[in-house]
Amino acid sequence: MKRAQSVRIDLASDTLTKPTHGMREAIAAAEVGDDVYLEDPTVRALEDRVAELLGKEDALYVPSGSQGNLIGIRLHCGPGDELLAEADCHIIRYEQASYAQLLGIASQVVAGENGILHAEQLVGRIRPQEMHSPQTRLLCLENTHNFGGGRIQPYKTVETICNWAAAEGLKRHLDGARLFNAVVATGIPAHKWAQHFDTVSVCFSKGLGAPVGSALCGTREAMGRARWHRKAFGGGMRQAGVIAAGALYALDHHIERLAEDHAKAQVLADAIRQTDGLCLQGDQVDTNIVCFTVDTKHGTAVEFCSRLSEHGVRVLPVGPQLVRAVTHMDVSLAEAKETAALLQSPNGT
Ligand SMILES: *Cc1c(COP(=O)(O)O)cnc(C)c1O
Repeated sequence: MKRAQSVRIDLASDTLTKPTHGMREAIAAAEVGDDVYLEDPTVRALEDRVAELLGKEDALYVPSGSQGNLIGIRLHCGPGDELLAEADCHIIRYEQASYAQLLGIASQVVAGENGILHAEQLVGRIRPQEMHSPQTRLLCLENTHNFGGGRIQPYKTVETICNWAAAEGLKRHLDGARLFNAVVATGIPAHKWAQHFDTVSVCFSKGLGAPVGSALCGTREAMGRARWHRKAFGGGMRQAGVIAAGALYALDHHIERLAEDHAKAQVLADAIRQTDGLCLQGDQVDTNIVCFTVDTKHGTAVEFCSRLSEHGVRVLPVGPQLVRAVTHMDVSLAEAKETAALLQSPNGT
């Protein structure tokens, strides 16, 4: 991804956030040890904190959300097994099919509506237990849904889908990279969302604003095995307290403020609704991701984004006519308003 020197307002992703002064102080002060020897007190404190927030017995700090998902899948499936997932979820779309590359696991995808699944769509998807079929073992959900435009899989549907999966004997994994966005937007606490899943991964390096890392959580027994798999995937880290301190700081200081990112996204959404030739994907913005299509009279998505970049604003083309803007803590409300004005008049006229 090429980053023009002149980008002033960068809405490409919420991964772009840089550690704040307070976070850097916490990082500088972190007590550390060798975490592969279980001797890093800051990593331990982070894992305890995440487990408590998500109502699980234990948690494991991992270098990335992709690795958290991969380990979660590894816990529940082996070669010849199959996972069920939404067609455009991160695990399917953005993780190189690592479950297939590295683990010999198959996938069956079901297309949701802007990423949102309904229980009826899953009925009948489980393979028969016979000679010709992979064995369906795992259901993966994503909340909020990244490619769906930050949409929240509604709590009731999570409950219904997971109850169905449990009754069918499937394990459940939640890719909760942006679960805290759903928590703040709905007021439903993280542990309530998490109770429907065997394993949950959450990212600290998205809207929470930490520099590195994700956590996977589940039972103590599962996290013991997860720690073992993490080492095989090259994820055993030494004085990781340095980065874990940023994640701990983020949990203390940056959860509630996600509401500000959601408000900034609404400013963009309103501008898009008012602009001829722009159309909000699904006509709805739930959290901090704003996906919209541009009519060909504005040119292609690439052309539209390149016009905005001339004004120092970066948004990303994610399809031929589809554009994505993500709000985060390093873009102010004033900058969101400036972007909104530009969206309504992308030629600066
Ligand atoms: C960002 C993200 C991940 C993890 O990405 P990494 O870059 O591997 O940390 C996983 N799931 C979703 C939905 C994401 O948006």
